[in-house]
Amino acid sequence: MAKQRVLVKFSGEALAGESGYGVDTSILKFIAEEIKQLIDSGIEVGVVIGGGNIIRGVTAAKDGIIKRTSGDYMGMLATVINAVAMQEALEYLGMRVRVQSAIKMEQICETFIVRRAIRHLEKGRIVIFAAGTGNPFFTTDTAATLRAIEIGADMIIKATKVDGVYDKDPNKYSDAKKLPTLSYDEALADNIKVMDDTSIALAKENKLPIVVCDMFKKGNLLAIMQGDYEKCSIVK
Ligand code: UDP
Repeated sequence: MAKQRVLVKFSGEALAGESGYGVDTSILKFIAEEIKQLIDSGIEVGVVIGGGNIIRGVTAAKDGIIKRTSGDYMGMLATVINAVAMQEALEYLGMRVRVQSAIKMEQICETFIVRRAIRHLEKGRIVIFAAGTGNPFFTTDTAATLRAIEIGADMIIKATKVDGVYDKDPNKYSDAKKLPTLSYDEALADNIKVMDDTSIALAKENKLPIVVCDMFKKGNLLAIMQGDYEKCSIVK
């Protein structure tokens, strides 16, 4: 039987923990333990981490002093910081890891080469894809979707602070309803926040299922890979 392959996307913001900034090592360790369950089950794992805990291009460029393009490059660099941190936590728990960056940084990590990434995955190594797509005006959600398609992942799991997709913001509306399954077109609707439209369009065209789940629920990632979609939402 062919091995399962998954791309898990974590937001940078989630890494920050209580302080709201930087990297909380207890959260890194928690994520590493969740990923270890996948690796121990023989699943091949690619990872993308955002950079929102450090800087986002749009925010950096808000008052016009920093150009949007430069802000976006700063954001991409932030994802490399997170990737290196995550690599450490995964290795701390005994896993084998490679970071591959979309922007060449040879003293820090490998450069993204899809064939090489696939070889790492086949050997049981985790590959963390850093620096987004390498281009400004994109998000790490789009980078994650792109990489998932490139490595032929069975699905992308967006591991977030909420346990799925709601018809409106569950933090603002108490009557917000969770949607267990959505079509790609439903996910593109204005009130639905799954990923940005570029990511969803890319997933739709390549028939890549998107699963949205609560990253802080222990055992969630493995349960999803074993076909239990009870505690999440799926776009397909
Ligand atoms: N970014 C970019 N191109 C990419 C991916 C990311 O320019 O392909 C920049 C962008 O400025 C973004 C920042 O990197 O705001 C951090 O990524 P993101 O906001 O997606 O992180 P998250 O919200 O997941 O923490």
